[in-house]
Amino acid sequence: MVPMLAPKSYTREDVIELQCHGSEVCLNRVLRACLEAGARLAEPGEFTLRAFLNGRLDLSQAENVGKLVSAKSTAVADSALAGIQGGFSSLVKSIRMQCIELLAEIEARLDFDDEMPPLNLNVMMEKIYGMVRDIDSALETANYDKLLQSGIQIAIVGRPNVGKSSLLNAWSTSERAIVTDIAGTTRDVIEANISVCGIPAILLDTAGIRQTNDPVEKMGVERSEKAAGSADVIVMAVSATEGWTTEDATLLETIQSNKASCGSSSPMILVVNKIDCARPPDLVDAFGGFPFNKMIFTCALTGQGIQDLEAAIAEIVGQDKIPSGGRKWTVNQRQWEQLIRAKDALARLKSSMGEELPLDLWTIDLREAAMALGQINGDDFSEEILANIFGKFCIGK
Ligand code: GDP
Repeated sequence: MVPMLAPKSYTREDVIELQCHGSEVCLNRVLRACLEAGARLAEPGEFTLRAFLNGRLDLSQAENVGKLVSAKSTAVADSALAGIQGGFSSLVKSIRMQCIELLAEIEARLDFDDEMPPLNLNVMMEKIYGMVRDIDSALETANYDKLLQSGIQIAIVGRPNVGKSSLLNAWSTSERAIVTDIAGTTRDVIEANISVCGIPAILLDTAGIRQTNDPVEKMGVERSEKAAGSADVIVMAVSATEGWTTEDATLLETIQSNKASCGSSSPMILVVNKIDCARPPDLVDAFGGFPFNKMIFTCALTGQGIQDLEAAIAEIVGQDKIPSGGRKWTVNQRQWEQLIRAKDALARLKSSMGEELPLDLWTIDLREAAMALGQINGDDFSEEILANIFGKFCIGK
């Protein structure tokens, strides 16, 4: 039974507070009453920690609960759910079991050498290769995890009035940027959060890049160039009505030299906007070698072409990041470190075997590999690891 804290009489401030914050005020009052009656607030991640300590989840599944709770895009949520379902956990468990079985076989030879048949080194080597292959397939997902966690930054650049702000608005289905036909309206970098095929992305609408003497617009142009320099993908917009102009060519040169000076290799997409007004010009012939990764035709007023643009970006950034084999779970930084530790230990084991070093040296590496894998799924854990993982959860999860 929750004791209720009812104010004896409502003051004017109480009424205003209730009107402003509604349920939040009521919740806070119930919470306060519970605390006064002897309850305590849950620690961050306490319920998931309990599930782990009671064997309902392993550590990597528990980490995915945290990832699911804080997911800001469908792709992150899907990968967290796949992790909770245990695909990665069972892979780690199976590799660890194989390490322990090999360890047992070797240790038996150490203790009862005379009574045991000799080790079958070919079979053993095959098993080690199989384990390394499995570890590599898990490691392959780490880049995708990084992409999901950090998202991508997409900068829309172009001359004034080609439709950059309209593109940002259509893409983010918002009225984030002011759209006018007065050149130089966008003076600063405007951001909108979007999701590109489930991958979180920040869209940057930049000031139209052109020569200007207006000091405020000049600062905006500098910021645009900086944003383009640090973006993961650069979308250069041109207008179908004007085609490829000398100003576009100058702008492209500026972007390319900025990219070269900061060592950026960000892919570039050419967007030909306003295709409702003119037939798309044949731009490929305007260049010696086409400097863009893709060309997309859009009409920012209707949103036509935005889906193609998203698909192009997903293809470009995902090419080397999305894991093969249709897997959705991903390994985080902590798990990646332990997988590398296990892989290194197995590599040392292979060379110890090749050099015919004493058997007890083999067991050291196998133990190390098993320990690293145990730290991933929590068969082997320290208070410090748990505090680190569950401390990042929000209260009540
Ligand atoms: P920005 O300066 O590059 O950001 O361009 P804006 O988004 O402010 O657009 C400049 C003008 O072009 C505005 O009047 C828009 O309504 C118009 N515009 C933008 N995109 C399109 C489009 O695809 N088709 C047509 N017909 N007009 C567009």
